[in-house]
Amino acid sequence: MYKRVLLKLSGEALSNGKDNPFYQEHLQNVALEVKEVVKEGIQVAIVVGGGNLYRGKIGVSLGMDRHTGDSMGMLATVMNALAISNALTQQGVENVVMTSIEMKGLAEHFTRNSADKALKEGKVVVFGGGTGHPYFSTDTTSALRALETNCDVILMAKNGVDGVYSADPRHNKDAYKFDEISYQEVIERNLQVMDQTATSLCKDNNMPLVVFNMNEKGNIVKACKGKINGTLVK
Ligand code: UDP
Repeated sequence: MYKRVLLKLSGEALSNGKDNPFYQEHLQNVALEVKEVVKEGIQVAIVVGGGNLYRGKIGVSLGMDRHTGDSMGMLATVMNALAISNALTQQGVENVVMTSIEMKGLAEHFTRNSADKALKEGKVVVFGGGTGHPYFSTDTTSALRALETNCDVILMAKNGVDGVYSADPRHNKDAYKFDEISYQEVIERNLQVMDQTATSLCKDNNMPLVVFNMNEKGNIVKACKGKINGTLVK
């Protein structure tokens, strides 16, 4: 069992995949599962993406500069962090939102020490705002925050994919799933687990990663307890 985990949720995990970016049932399920995990004494940090609301690439495709698009994407992740925080609070789970860019009155400013302290106190720490820098992703944020706060593992929740495959299983019937794979092999095979910056950061600093399917109820709990049937990347 892990002592401290970093759970990466994509923005899309919060939505209904169509017209509702904040699907209350999904938010509630995440909160209920995190509640169960915290009760067991596991410290939980969460990094959330912004894809249900905005991505920098959308802005660029509309003619914006990358910096502006990415800044808007980072703001989207803050909205998602607030939504997760609200769902946790509704379930009675103590939590704190920490943002990379200072947002006085809205969230706490991230420092390694304050995050560590909150986690030790049993609070769930929800990281919003990505790294605070354009040209990065929330995958890279996950790698960075997991390293900064000494998490044992990154738990990467995927929508409907239960691990790392040799090819896209939806398009290739010969694709097979890895129970375990090295970062080196992920890079050599060009497997789309995380973006390359995040992959290198994890590889260079020996941060293990577990990819799992969050669409089945109970899987967040299983992943946090180290009992999930996903793919371990190390
Ligand atoms: N973003 C950024 N810097 C970061 C993290 C995120 O600029 O450190 C922006 C980027 O535009 C990205 C958007 O925020 O497209 C949303 O994050 P991401 O695409 O990682 O979200 P996800 O796909 O996980 O929902």
